[in-house]
Amino acid sequence: MQEVADLIACEECDAIHSRSAPGRNEIALCSRCGAELERDMSAYSRRVLPLAIASFLIYIIANTFPIVEMELQGIVSRTTLIGSVLSLNAADMPFVASLVLATTILFPLIQLLVLIYLLASVTRSGYHPAFNLLVRLIQTLQPWVMVEVFLLGTIVALVKLTNMATVLPGVALWAFGALTILLAAVSSFNPRYIWKMALSKKTERSHVS
Ligand SMILES: [Zn+2]
Repeated sequence: MQEVADLIACEECDAIHSRSAPGRNEIALCSRCGAELERDMSAYSRRVLPLAIASFLIYIIANTFPIVEMELQGIVSRTTLIGSVLSLNAADMPFVASLVLATTILFPLIQLLVLIYLLASVTRSGYHPAFNLLVRLIQTLQPWVMVEVFLLGTIVALVKLTNMATVLPGVALWAFGALTILLAAVSSFNPRYIWKMALSKKTERSHVS
């Protein structure tokens, strides 16, 4: 890809604009369709890595502790997310179990780990040999991360179950709520900003040497 320093194309409508670096907390919008062209990255680069690490820690809590605790006729049962996947599989629903496993456990984990690894290496050295591949991987997984769908489904199921049993939301359910908000913030991730971070780090290094 050829980088033309003083021009920028709108990703939505292909309109070409002359580029002027956005000031602090400023966002440049396309004059034709209003899509975001560029924004001040200083705040972005400071924010995304800590957010991704926080999301990863919350993800561990969400997957370790019980989602829900139910009491029915004196019998208490609790389950974790992976426990619910195993139960679905045991109940002859392997397809649904695989979907839950992929969209709420595997894909968010891969997405977060790759993003943390990429941001950490770009912040440190300004370059990663598999940059394109890793960014494509994150973008491909993005539509398949469905933690919020799982959270809504669980809340609806819990509300319906309250008529039949005593239902207590577990630590993991609150963690999933927090994870949904954090992932929404992290997914504001735009590969162009990481590319910019890498370029500015590279320029910084060449100036120093
Ligand atoms: Zn546009």
